[in-house]
Amino acid sequence: GTYTHSFDTPAFKGDVTINTGLFINGQWVDPVEESTIDVFNPATGKLITKVSAAGPKDVDLAVQAAQKAYKTTWGLHTPGTVRGKLLNKLADLLEKNFDEFAALEALDTGKVFDKAKAIDITGALAVFRYYAGWADKIQGKTIETTENKLAYTRREPFGVCGQIIPWNFPMVMLSWKVGPALATGNTIVLKPSELTPLTALKFASLINEAGFPPGVVNILNGYGPVAGQAIAEHPKITKIAFTGSTLTGRKIMKAAAETNLKVVTLELGGKSPTIIFDDADLEQAAKWAAAGIYFNMGQACTAGSRIFVQEGIYDKFLEKFTGITQYLTQKTGDPFTSGTEHGPQVSQLQFDRVMGYIESGRSEGAKVLVGGERHGEEGYFIKPTIFTDCKPEMKIIREEIFGPVCAVMKFKTEEEVIEVANDTTYGLGCNVFSLNINRAIRVAHALEAGSAWVNCAQATELQVPFGGYKQSGIGRELGEYAIDTYTQVKAVHINI
Ligand code: NAD
Repeated sequence: GTYTHSFDTPAFKGDVTINTGLFINGQWVDPVEESTIDVFNPATGKLITKVSAAGPKDVDLAVQAAQKAYKTTWGLHTPGTVRGKLLNKLADLLEKNFDEFAALEALDTGKVFDKAKAIDITGALAVFRYYAGWADKIQGKTIETTENKLAYTRREPFGVCGQIIPWNFPMVMLSWKVGPALATGNTIVLKPSELTPLTALKFASLINEAGFPPGVVNILNGYGPVAGQAIAEHPKITKIAFTGSTLTGRKIMKAAAETNLKVVTLELGGKSPTIIFDDADLEQAAKWAAAGIYFNMGQACTAGSRIFVQEGIYDKFLEKFTGITQYLTQKTGDPFTSGTEHGPQVSQLQFDRVMGYIESGRSEGAKVLVGGERHGEEGYFIKPTIFTDCKPEMKIIREEIFGPVCAVMKFKTEEEVIEVANDTTYGLGCNVFSLNINRAIRVAHALEAGSAWVNCAQATELQVPFGGYKQSGIGRELGEYAIDTYTQVKAVHINI
């Protein structure tokens, strides 16, 4: 079936139509066994629509289609120049529907419409164009060997890739997965998060128009433990890419290991430190620290949730940081009203989880300086929240909260702060603020994280690899690294 949403908001007016089925082999189909997902508007808590949910049989049909496409029309059968052209065509279509995508993304996730435009859809578009450019630049090496032999390497696709993405940046995460996989000649079975299925459905409707052969891209909404697990276990999927929680990442790796040893890349959670030294530009540091934690309502895997401030500037920093936090609180509200800065959490469950963490912080003796409660009567809004008086063993310091909640802590020395900042099982990002470039670089190198931001926060660049140390993940996305993670190396030996 189809669903049409009529937007009548100050920021966007118009009808957006999506197909609510499963996109398999270039066609919209219903699940073999009927199952649906209720899709809610996080700003109101009301039902938007229902969409189809895939089961293991649907996953299997999608994998068969993807495998056939890989062997007959895609894979080694379509040259890079053509793959690049199709990816650019896809980007053109996305651009043509820019506002519709942004509106749907804001409706489904609760993120602010203007930000969905400036960050999510702009970002996804840039990723497709970037990997369109890579499609005809995938190269091997020639290697000198002893005797009369020539050896060279090729970077070949894996075949059918399973891709499972989260709800915090649905279109951006989709582009990070789909862009490099198609550029390198793989075919795809992708499952969006059951919390945010809408933009992926709109995206699926562009695939045929862009000119991809049937079966190259298959998009199935479905529940994690059902459709997601079926993807992780499918013996014909040779590579799986996942972004989400560390707990689910573990399950996927286990399923991959126990079935056919799929190659696994994982982008998981984080508990990133923000470290502000006495010699930082205080104004900038406070601004970036706020962006670091409150970006996307704290629902970012790189969220700077532990803020360490050197003792000499602790009070001054807290004053400025509190000011920005209170400003955001005043700008909390409807995602489609211009001027809104802070929207709701994505779901009732996430709202409850985050409120649970706030409660646990209080009961373990931390102090709520700002926020700590819901905003408004309806929807899943939580006020930006600052904790002080925290201890390293508290749950709010150890576990990923994934909401607009941070802890501000005092430190004395560089050695001490490196030690406590690294005292976590995660290792995704870190932010360092100091105008002493030697110190900033020294600390950035000493922190155990896949990305270090110096005098800034949260900015991923599409040319730069992104991924985690420790339990924050395996492998890298973006840049040339993604080309590597979506290809396997073949060595060819020739006797001359
Ligand atoms: P999740 O890991 O359960 O969901 C992410 C994706 O995995 C979804 O598409 C989901 O359907 C799928 N999934 C769930 N169980 C699966 C299984 N057994 N096999 C295969 N796929 C499965 O995350 P969540 O429950 O939506 O959020 C919980 C927490 O995860 C958050 O609070 C946050 O800490 C973390 N998270 C991190 C990121 C990130 O970008 N690193 C994104 C979203 C959530």
